[in-house]
Amino acid sequence: MSNNLKDHRQIGQEQEIFFTNDIAPGAPFWLPRGMIIFKELEKYIRELTEKAGYQETSTPIMVKSELFKQSGHWEKFGEHNMYNLQLSDEENDNQAVSYSLKPMNCPESTVIYRFRPRSYKELPLRLAEIGRLHRREKSGEVNGLLRVRQLTMDDAHIYVAEEQIFEEIGNILYMMMTFYENFGFEYEFRLATRPEKRAGTDQMWDKAENALKEALIRKGIQAGDKLGDGAFYGPKIDLHIKDSQGREWQLATVQLDFHQPEAFKLEYIDGDGQKQQPVMIHRAIFGSFERFLGILMEHFQGAFPLWLSPVQTMVIPITDKNIDYANQVFNQLKEANIRVELDDRSETMQARVRDAELQKVPYIIVVGEKEEKDHNISIRTRGQKEIRQDETESFVEQIRKNIEKRSTKLV
Ligand SMILES: [Zn+2]
Repeated sequence: MSNNLKDHRQIGQEQEIFFTNDIAPGAPFWLPRGMIIFKELEKYIRELTEKAGYQETSTPIMVKSELFKQSGHWEKFGEHNMYNLQLSDEENDNQAVSYSLKPMNCPESTVIYRFRPRSYKELPLRLAEIGRLHRREKSGEVNGLLRVRQLTMDDAHIYVAEEQIFEEIGNILYMMMTFYENFGFEYEFRLATRPEKRAGTDQMWDKAENALKEALIRKGIQAGDKLGDGAFYGPKIDLHIKDSQGREWQLATVQLDFHQPEAFKLEYIDGDGQKQQPVMIHRAIFGSFERFLGILMEHFQGAFPLWLSPVQTMVIPITDKNIDYANQVFNQLKEANIRVELDDRSETMQARVRDAELQKVPYIIVVGEKEEKDHNISIRTRGQKEIRQDETESFVEQIRKNIEKRSTKLV
Protein backbone atom coordinates (compact mmCIF):
# COMPACT_ATOMS: atom_id res chain seq x y z
CA MET A 1 0.00 0.00 0.00
CA SER A 2 1.44 3.39 -0.95
CA ASN A 3 2.56 5.78 1.78
CA ASN A 4 -0.31 8.21 1.88
CA LEU A 5 -2.94 5.48 2.02
CA LYS A 6 -4.03 4.14 5.36
CA ASP A 7 -4.34 0.52 6.35
CA HIS A 8 -7.73 -0.48 7.82
CA ARG A 9 -6.06 -1.26 11.18
CA GLN A 10 -4.80 2.30 11.39
CA ILE A 11 -8.23 3.71 10.44
CA GLY A 12 -9.82 1.37 12.96
CA GLN A 13 -7.55 2.71 15.69
CA GLU A 14 -7.88 6.41 14.78
CA GLN A 15 -11.65 6.35 14.41
CA GLU A 16 -12.11 3.94 17.32
CA ILE A 17 -13.85 1.30 15.24
CA PHE A 18 -12.07 -1.91 16.28
CA PHE A 19 -8.81 -3.28 17.55
CA THR A 20 -7.18 -6.64 18.07
CA ASN A 21 -5.46 -7.90 21.19
CA ASP A 22 -3.16 -10.86 21.77
CA ILE A 23 -5.69 -12.17 24.26
CA ALA A 24 -7.81 -13.26 21.26
CA PRO A 25 -5.62 -13.56 18.15
CA GLY A 26 -7.61 -13.29 14.94
CA ALA A 27 -10.80 -12.07 16.64
CA PRO A 28 -11.56 -8.34 16.59
CA PHE A 29 -12.87 -6.31 19.52
CA TRP A 30 -15.57 -3.94 18.25
CA LEU A 31 -15.70 -0.50 19.81
CA PRO A 32 -19.00 1.43 20.09
CA ARG A 33 -18.42 3.28 16.81
CA GLY A 34 -17.56 0.06 15.03
CA MET A 35 -20.73 -1.56 16.33
CA ILE A 36 -22.77 1.26 14.78
CA ILE A 37 -21.36 0.39 11.35
CA PHE A 38 -21.72 -3.34 11.99
CA LYS A 39 -25.38 -2.94 12.95
CA GLU A 40 -26.13 -0.72 9.93
CA LEU A 41 -24.72 -3.40 7.63
CA GLU A 42 -26.79 -6.06 9.41
CA LYS A 43 -29.89 -3.92 9.08
CA TYR A 44 -29.29 -3.46 5.36
CA ILE A 45 -28.83 -7.16 4.68
CA ARG A 46 -31.90 -8.02 6.77
CA GLU A 47 -34.00 -5.58 4.75
CA LEU A 48 -32.77 -7.04 1.46
CA THR A 49 -33.36 -10.64 2.50
CA GLU A 50 -36.77 -10.03 4.03
CA LYS A 51 -37.87 -8.33 0.84
CA ALA A 52 -36.63 -11.34 -1.14
CA GLY A 53 -38.68 -13.81 0.92
CA TYR A 54 -36.02 -15.13 3.31
CA GLN A 55 -36.74 -16.14 6.91
CA GLU A 56 -34.11 -15.63 9.57
CA THR A 57 -32.89 -18.46 11.79
CA SER A 58 -30.10 -18.98 14.30
CA THR A 59 -28.19 -22.17 15.05
CA PRO A 60 -25.74 -23.13 17.84
CA ILE A 61 -22.08 -22.09 17.68
CA MET A 62 -20.89 -25.35 19.24
CA VAL A 63 -22.24 -28.71 18.07
CA LYS A 64 -21.11 -32.33 18.19
CA SER A 65 -18.44 -32.98 15.58
CA GLU A 66 -20.43 -35.90 14.17
CA LEU A 67 -22.53 -33.35 12.24
CA PHE A 68 -19.45 -32.23 10.29
CA LYS A 69 -18.41 -35.83 9.74
CA GLN A 70 -21.79 -36.52 8.18
CA SER A 71 -21.66 -33.42 5.97
CA GLY A 72 -18.14 -34.24 4.76
CA HIS A 73 -16.58 -31.03 6.19
CA TRP A 74 -14.51 -33.01 8.69
CA GLU A 75 -12.73 -34.86 5.94
CA LYS A 76 -12.74 -32.31 3.08
CA PHE A 77 -12.55 -28.97 4.92
CA GLY A 78 -10.14 -30.54 7.39
CA GLU A 79 -10.57 -31.13 11.10
CA HIS A 80 -7.30 -29.21 11.61
CA ASN A 81 -9.07 -26.10 10.24
CA MET A 82 -11.70 -26.33 12.96
CA TYR A 83 -11.69 -25.81 16.73
CA ASN A 84 -12.53 -29.13 18.37
CA LEU A 85 -12.98 -29.94 22.04
CA GLN A 86 -13.30 -33.21 23.85
CA LEU A 87 -15.98 -32.89 26.53
CA SER A 88 -17.35 -35.51 28.86
CA ASP A 89 -20.62 -34.82 30.63
CA GLU A 90 -23.14 -36.87 32.47
CA GLU A 91 -25.49 -36.94 29.52
CA ASN A 92 -22.80 -38.83 27.61
CA ASP A 93 -22.19 -41.24 30.53
CA ASN A 94 -18.98 -39.32 31.19
CA GLN A 95 -17.55 -40.56 27.90
CA ALA A 96 -15.50 -38.00 26.00
CA VAL A 97 -17.45 -36.61 23.06
CA SER A 98 -15.95 -34.42 20.35
CA TYR A 99 -17.57 -31.02 19.85
CA SER A 100 -16.68 -28.41 17.22
CA LEU A 101 -17.12 -24.67 16.91
CA LYS A 102 -18.90 -24.37 13.58
CA PRO A 103 -16.69 -23.25 10.68
CA MET A 104 -19.81 -22.87 8.51
CA ASN A 105 -23.56 -22.87 8.97
CA CYS A 106 -24.68 -25.32 6.29
CA PRO A 107 -24.88 -28.62 8.19
CA GLU A 108 -26.87 -26.96 10.96
CA SER A 109 -29.22 -25.38 8.45
CA THR A 110 -30.12 -28.93 7.38
CA VAL A 111 -31.02 -29.68 11.02
CA ILE A 112 -33.58 -26.88 10.79
CA TYR A 113 -34.81 -28.25 7.46
CA ARG A 114 -35.25 -31.69 9.07
CA PHE A 115 -37.14 -30.24 12.03
CA ARG A 116 -40.37 -31.46 10.41
CA PRO A 117 -41.56 -32.98 7.12
CA ARG A 118 -41.44 -30.50 4.24
CA SER A 119 -43.88 -30.04 1.39
CA TYR A 120 -43.21 -28.81 -2.17
CA LYS A 121 -45.48 -25.90 -1.26
CA GLU A 122 -42.76 -24.52 1.05
CA LEU A 123 -40.12 -24.44 -1.68
CA PRO A 124 -38.05 -22.42 -2.32
CA LEU A 125 -37.46 -22.45 1.44
CA ARG A 126 -35.04 -19.60 2.10
CA LEU A 127 -33.37 -19.78 5.51
CA ALA A 128 -31.02 -16.94 6.36
CA GLU A 129 -28.60 -16.83 9.27
CA ILE A 130 -26.16 -14.18 10.39
CA GLY A 131 -23.87 -16.74 11.95
CA ARG A 132 -20.68 -16.44 13.93
CA LEU A 133 -18.07 -18.88 12.65
CA HIS A 134 -14.64 -20.00 13.82
CA ARG A 135 -11.88 -21.07 11.46
CA ARG A 136 -8.43 -22.04 12.53
CA GLU A 137 -6.36 -19.82 10.23
CA LYS A 138 -2.60 -20.09 10.72
CA SER A 139 -1.21 -17.24 12.83
CA GLY A 140 0.97 -16.01 9.93
CA GLU A 141 -2.15 -15.59 7.82
CA VAL A 142 -4.21 -13.64 10.33
CA ASN A 143 -4.42 -10.00 9.22
CA GLY A 144 -6.58 -7.36 10.93
CA LEU A 145 -10.12 -7.80 9.63
CA LEU A 146 -9.08 -9.22 6.28
CA ARG A 147 -8.31 -12.68 7.59
CA VAL A 148 -9.78 -13.59 10.95
CA ARG A 149 -10.37 -16.69 13.03
CA GLN A 150 -13.78 -15.57 14.18
CA LEU A 151 -16.08 -14.23 11.51
CA THR A 152 -19.68 -13.23 11.03
CA MET A 153 -21.28 -14.42 7.83
CA ASP A 154 -24.50 -13.22 6.22
CA ASP A 155 -25.32 -16.73 5.20
CA ALA A 156 -28.39 -18.29 3.64
CA HIS A 157 -29.40 -21.76 2.54
CA ILE A 158 -32.18 -22.12 0.05
CA TYR A 159 -33.88 -25.44 -0.52
CA VAL A 160 -35.39 -25.74 -3.99
CA ALA A 161 -36.90 -28.30 -6.35
CA GLU A 162 -34.60 -28.90 -9.34
CA GLU A 163 -36.79 -26.92 -11.74
CA GLN A 164 -36.54 -23.87 -9.44
CA ILE A 165 -32.73 -23.64 -9.60
CA PHE A 166 -32.35 -21.15 -12.46
CA GLU A 167 -34.83 -18.62 -11.21
CA GLU A 168 -33.50 -18.74 -7.67
CA ILE A 169 -29.85 -18.39 -8.74
CA GLY A 170 -30.92 -15.52 -11.02
CA ASN A 171 -32.61 -13.75 -8.09
CA ILE A 172 -29.50 -14.13 -5.97
CA LEU A 173 -27.20 -12.78 -8.69
CA TYR A 174 -29.55 -9.82 -9.01
CA MET A 175 -29.42 -9.20 -5.25
CA MET A 176 -25.62 -9.22 -5.37
CA MET A 177 -25.52 -6.74 -8.24
CA THR A 178 -27.95 -4.38 -6.48
CA PHE A 179 -25.91 -4.54 -3.31
CA TYR A 180 -22.46 -3.91 -4.83
CA GLU A 181 -23.69 -1.27 -7.28
CA ASN A 182 -25.09 0.63 -4.31
CA PHE A 183 -21.56 0.83 -2.85
CA GLY A 184 -20.20 1.97 -6.21
CA PHE A 185 -17.95 -1.05 -6.67
CA GLU A 186 -16.99 -2.41 -10.08
CA TYR A 187 -17.60 -6.14 -10.11
CA GLU A 188 -17.29 -9.30 -12.15
CA PHE A 189 -18.71 -12.81 -11.78
CA ARG A 190 -16.57 -15.96 -11.99
CA LEU A 191 -17.72 -19.54 -12.31
CA ALA A 192 -15.72 -21.89 -10.08
CA THR A 193 -15.85 -25.52 -11.19
CA ARG A 194 -15.12 -28.95 -9.63
CA PRO A 195 -12.02 -29.17 -7.45
CA GLU A 196 -9.80 -32.23 -7.23
CA LYS A 197 -10.84 -33.01 -3.66
CA ARG A 198 -14.62 -33.31 -3.89
CA ALA A 199 -17.68 -35.22 -2.85
CA GLY A 200 -20.37 -36.60 -5.18
CA THR A 201 -20.38 -38.26 -8.61
CA ASP A 202 -19.21 -36.75 -11.91
CA GLN A 203 -22.80 -36.90 -13.10
CA MET A 204 -23.87 -34.77 -10.15
CA TRP A 205 -21.11 -32.24 -10.94
CA ASP A 206 -22.04 -32.09 -14.63
CA LYS A 207 -25.61 -31.33 -13.68
CA ALA A 208 -24.64 -28.65 -11.13
CA GLU A 209 -22.08 -26.89 -13.36
CA ASN A 210 -24.49 -26.83 -16.30
CA ALA A 211 -27.22 -25.41 -14.08
CA LEU A 212 -25.00 -22.49 -13.03
CA LYS A 213 -23.93 -21.83 -16.63
CA GLU A 214 -27.57 -21.82 -17.67
CA ALA A 215 -28.51 -19.41 -14.87
CA LEU A 216 -25.78 -16.99 -16.02
CA ILE A 217 -26.94 -17.22 -19.64
CA ARG A 218 -30.55 -16.57 -18.67
CA LYS A 219 -29.50 -13.43 -16.79
CA GLY A 220 -27.30 -12.34 -19.70
CA ILE A 221 -24.22 -12.28 -17.45
CA GLN A 222 -20.73 -12.85 -18.85
CA ALA A 223 -18.68 -14.67 -16.23
CA GLY A 224 -14.98 -15.49 -16.07
CA ASP A 225 -13.74 -18.96 -15.10
CA LYS A 226 -12.06 -20.30 -11.99
CA LEU A 227 -11.31 -23.86 -12.99
CA GLY A 228 -11.13 -26.31 -10.08
CA ASP A 229 -12.00 -23.68 -7.48
CA GLY A 230 -15.48 -24.91 -6.49
CA ALA A 231 -16.50 -25.96 -2.97
CA PHE A 232 -16.00 -29.65 -2.20
CA TYR A 233 -19.76 -30.18 -2.39
CA GLY A 234 -20.55 -28.19 -5.53
CA PRO A 235 -19.65 -25.48 -8.07
CA LYS A 236 -20.16 -21.79 -7.34
CA ILE A 237 -20.40 -18.34 -8.85
CA ASP A 238 -18.23 -15.80 -7.02
CA LEU A 239 -18.44 -12.06 -7.29
CA HIS A 240 -15.13 -10.21 -7.45
CA ILE A 241 -14.96 -6.49 -6.82
CA LYS A 242 -12.34 -3.86 -7.52
CA ASP A 243 -11.67 -1.33 -4.74
CA SER A 244 -10.61 2.32 -5.02
CA GLN A 245 -6.97 1.21 -5.20
CA GLY A 246 -7.56 -1.20 -8.05
CA ARG A 247 -7.22 -4.28 -5.84
CA GLU A 248 -9.45 -7.26 -6.47
CA TRP A 249 -11.42 -9.07 -3.77
CA GLN A 250 -13.68 -12.07 -3.84
CA LEU A 251 -16.73 -11.36 -1.69
CA ALA A 252 -20.20 -12.66 -2.56
CA THR A 253 -20.76 -16.28 -3.48
CA VAL A 254 -23.58 -18.55 -4.57
CA GLN A 255 -23.05 -22.31 -4.54
CA LEU A 256 -25.11 -25.17 -5.82
CA ASP A 257 -25.09 -28.35 -3.76
CA PHE A 258 -26.50 -31.78 -4.58
CA HIS A 259 -24.18 -33.44 -2.07
CA GLN A 260 -25.39 -32.31 1.37
CA PRO A 261 -29.09 -33.01 0.62
CA GLU A 262 -27.92 -36.57 -0.14
CA ALA A 263 -25.60 -36.81 2.89
CA PHE A 264 -28.39 -35.67 5.23
CA LYS A 265 -31.16 -37.52 3.36
CA LEU A 266 -33.23 -34.36 2.95
CA GLU A 267 -36.63 -34.76 1.40
CA TYR A 268 -39.91 -33.09 0.61
CA ILE A 269 -43.27 -34.42 -0.50
CA ASP A 270 -44.12 -33.43 -4.07
CA GLY A 271 -47.56 -32.70 -5.57
CA ASP A 272 -48.18 -36.44 -6.12
CA GLY A 273 -47.38 -37.32 -2.54
CA GLN A 274 -43.97 -38.76 -3.53
CA LYS A 275 -40.71 -38.18 -1.65
CA GLN A 276 -38.19 -36.04 -3.52
CA GLN A 277 -34.76 -34.67 -2.69
CA PRO A 278 -34.37 -30.88 -2.68
CA VAL A 279 -31.30 -29.10 -4.03
CA MET A 280 -29.44 -26.83 -1.62
CA ILE A 281 -28.19 -23.39 -2.63
CA HIS A 282 -25.68 -21.62 -0.36
CA ARG A 283 -25.21 -17.91 -0.68
CA ALA A 284 -23.53 -14.98 1.11
CA ILE A 285 -23.67 -11.36 -0.03
CA PHE A 286 -21.02 -9.75 2.24
CA GLY A 287 -19.17 -13.00 2.73
CA SER A 288 -17.78 -12.04 6.11
CA PHE A 289 -18.79 -8.76 7.76
CA GLU A 290 -15.28 -8.42 9.17
CA ARG A 291 -13.53 -8.74 5.83
CA PHE A 292 -16.11 -6.59 4.04
CA LEU A 293 -15.73 -3.86 6.64
CA GLY A 294 -11.93 -4.01 6.40
CA ILE A 295 -12.17 -3.59 2.63
CA LEU A 296 -14.72 -0.76 2.96
CA MET A 297 -12.47 1.10 5.41
CA GLU A 298 -9.57 1.03 2.96
CA HIS A 299 -11.80 1.64 -0.09
CA PHE A 300 -13.28 4.81 1.44
CA GLN A 301 -10.09 5.58 3.42
CA GLY A 302 -12.27 6.02 6.50
CA ALA A 303 -14.63 8.52 4.81
CA PHE A 304 -17.72 6.32 5.10
CA PRO A 305 -20.97 7.07 3.29
CA LEU A 306 -23.32 9.07 5.48
CA TRP A 307 -25.60 6.13 6.38
CA LEU A 308 -22.61 4.17 7.70
CA SER A 309 -20.78 7.01 9.44
CA PRO A 310 -20.69 6.43 13.21
CA VAL A 311 -20.83 10.21 13.75
CA GLN A 312 -22.86 11.82 10.97
CA THR A 313 -22.75 15.41 12.19
CA MET A 314 -20.54 17.31 14.63
CA VAL A 315 -21.87 20.52 16.17
CA ILE A 316 -19.23 23.08 17.15
CA PRO A 317 -20.11 26.32 18.99
CA ILE A 318 -17.67 29.11 18.13
CA THR A 319 -17.45 30.34 21.74
CA ASP A 320 -18.98 29.54 25.13
CA LYS A 321 -21.64 32.14 24.44
CA ASN A 322 -23.11 29.97 21.71
CA ILE A 323 -23.48 26.79 23.75
CA ASP A 324 -27.23 27.13 24.32
CA TYR A 325 -27.91 27.57 20.62
CA ALA A 326 -25.49 24.72 19.80
CA ASN A 327 -27.42 22.49 22.22
CA GLN A 328 -30.66 23.44 20.53
CA VAL A 329 -29.28 22.41 17.12
CA PHE A 330 -27.82 19.23 18.65
CA ASN A 331 -31.21 18.24 20.09
CA GLN A 332 -32.98 18.96 16.83
CA LEU A 333 -30.62 16.62 14.97
CA LYS A 334 -30.85 13.96 17.65
CA GLU A 335 -34.64 14.02 17.60
CA ALA A 336 -34.51 13.50 13.84
CA ASN A 337 -32.44 10.30 14.49
CA ILE A 338 -29.28 11.81 13.04
CA ARG A 339 -26.12 10.57 14.81
CA VAL A 340 -24.69 13.77 16.26
CA GLU A 341 -22.00 14.83 18.71
CA LEU A 342 -21.35 18.22 20.28
CA ASP A 343 -17.77 19.39 20.67
CA ASP A 344 -17.73 22.13 23.32
CA ARG A 345 -14.16 21.56 24.52
CA SER A 346 -12.20 24.69 25.33
CA GLU A 347 -9.96 24.23 22.25
CA THR A 348 -10.07 26.86 19.51
CA MET A 349 -12.83 26.49 16.96
CA GLN A 350 -10.22 25.77 14.26
CA ALA A 351 -8.68 22.95 16.31
CA ARG A 352 -12.07 21.35 16.89
CA VAL A 353 -12.97 21.60 13.19
CA ARG A 354 -9.66 19.97 12.34
CA ASP A 355 -10.28 17.10 14.77
CA ALA A 356 -13.70 16.45 13.24
CA GLU A 357 -12.11 16.54 9.79
CA LEU A 358 -9.54 13.94 10.86
CA GLN A 359 -12.41 11.79 12.10
CA LYS A 360 -13.92 12.15 8.59
CA VAL A 361 -17.23 13.40 10.00
CA PRO A 362 -19.48 14.02 6.93
CA TYR A 363 -20.97 17.31 8.21
CA ILE A 364 -19.39 19.79 10.59
CA ILE A 365 -21.88 22.34 11.82
CA VAL A 366 -20.45 25.54 13.22
CA VAL A 367 -22.69 27.93 15.13
CA GLY A 368 -21.85 31.41 16.41
CA GLU A 369 -23.56 34.70 17.05
CA LYS A 370 -24.42 35.26 13.41
CA GLU A 371 -26.07 31.83 13.03
CA GLU A 372 -27.96 32.32 16.26
CA LYS A 373 -29.29 35.69 15.10
CA ASP A 374 -30.24 34.35 11.64
CA HIS A 375 -31.69 31.09 13.06
CA ASN A 376 -29.54 28.95 10.79
CA ILE A 377 -26.37 26.84 10.77
CA SER A 378 -23.07 26.91 8.85
CA ILE A 379 -22.35 23.56 7.22
CA ARG A 380 -18.97 22.22 6.14
CA THR A 381 -19.42 19.16 3.97
CA ARG A 382 -16.60 16.59 3.98
CA GLY A 383 -14.41 16.98 0.90
CA GLN A 384 -15.85 20.36 -0.08
CA LYS A 385 -14.26 23.77 0.44
CA GLU A 386 -17.46 25.77 0.36
CA ILE A 387 -19.30 26.53 3.59
CA ARG A 388 -23.05 26.94 3.22
CA GLN A 389 -25.79 28.30 5.46
CA ASP A 390 -29.10 26.56 5.85
CA GLU A 391 -31.93 26.20 8.34
CA THR A 392 -31.63 23.14 10.55
CA GLU A 393 -34.99 21.70 9.39
CA SER A 394 -34.14 21.83 5.70
CA PHE A 395 -30.65 20.38 6.37
CA VAL A 396 -32.23 17.51 8.32
CA GLU A 397 -34.65 16.81 5.51
CA GLN A 398 -31.86 16.63 2.90
CA ILE A 399 -29.64 14.31 4.86
CA ARG A 400 -32.52 12.07 6.00
CA LYS A 401 -33.19 11.38 2.32
CA ASN A 402 -29.53 10.65 1.71
CA ILE A 403 -29.45 8.21 4.62
CA GLU A 404 -32.63 6.43 3.51
CA LYS A 405 -31.23 5.95 0.01
CA ARG A 406 -27.98 4.65 1.51
CA SER A 407 -26.21 6.95 -0.92
CA THR A 408 -22.41 6.92 -1.18
CA LYS A 409 -22.35 10.63 -2.09
CA LEU A 410 -22.92 13.53 0.28
CA VAL A 411 -25.45 16.25 -0.57
ZN1 LIG B 1 -23.49 -23.18 3.34
